[in-house]
Amino acid sequence: MIVSLSNQLKEKSEQGLFILPGGYLTLDGLCHKEVRMRHLTGKEEEIIVGANLQSTIPELLTQVLANCIEYVGPIKEINHDLIRQLLVCDRDYLLLRLRQMTFGDRIDASVQCPNEYCKKQMDIDFDINNVEIERRDIGNGVFFFTLSSLSSYKDKNNAVHSDVEFRLPNISDQEQIAEIYRENQSKALTNLLTRCVKRIGSITTITEELIQSLSMLARREIDLKMQEVSPKVDLQINVQCPECGTKFSSPFDIQNFFLAK
Ligand SMILES: [Zn+2]
Repeated sequence: MIVSLSNQLKEKSEQGLFILPGGYLTLDGLCHKEVRMRHLTGKEEEIIVGANLQSTIPELLTQVLANCIEYVGPIKEINHDLIRQLLVCDRDYLLLRLRQMTFGDRIDASVQCPNEYCKKQMDIDFDINNVEIERRDIGNGVFFFTLSSLSSYKDKNNAVHSDVEFRLPNISDQEQIAEIYRENQSKALTNLLTRCVKRIGSITTITEELIQSLSMLARREIDLKMQEVSPKVDLQINVQCPECGTKFSSPFDIQNFFLAK
């Protein structure tokens, strides 16, 4: 059994050294977690400000990260393809740290009270050090689970398929579904599952038609399992409206926020 060295790695933020909550998998199946970054410079500011409307936010962030990451584990040649293989949560984590390195611990944001009769706009601030990070051992990146008997897939010959093998979504997946997601979230889920599910029972050719023909419950079970095993960067902020007292939690959108600064 190979014990991951990453467990002993320590972050040194003053040196730009960070440990990914998940990790980057190389083709040999090894998981690398250590990343070194430099802070944002005028070069990235120009990329962000000069971005044309055609380039989507994920593409822009990929470019910024490709610029700022100096190495990932033993890999020193950082290109867009490598960034696109990072897990979405790892990318969000790096953006958060990149922001912290460049602008400090505090983030100011503006949120709106969800109470229909209030809708007060309020300014909130929080400390990046308080963001909860859930680290996970992602092994070789392949996860297994079994669909419930109610949601198992029955093919034309009435054979039942219930074991599911999947990988976690990466940035490339997110880039692919970004536009679809704005129009139709179910379609985006179909697209995402087609990309990330590797096997259902004895079926290893995963097509969009197959994912579409799964029951809603099966799709939901796979989606929930993916979220369950994924490392997390908890970007939910808990707020109480000073005007009407409504308590709510607001998801902090690191991607949009990162570009707004
Ligand atoms: Zn309110």
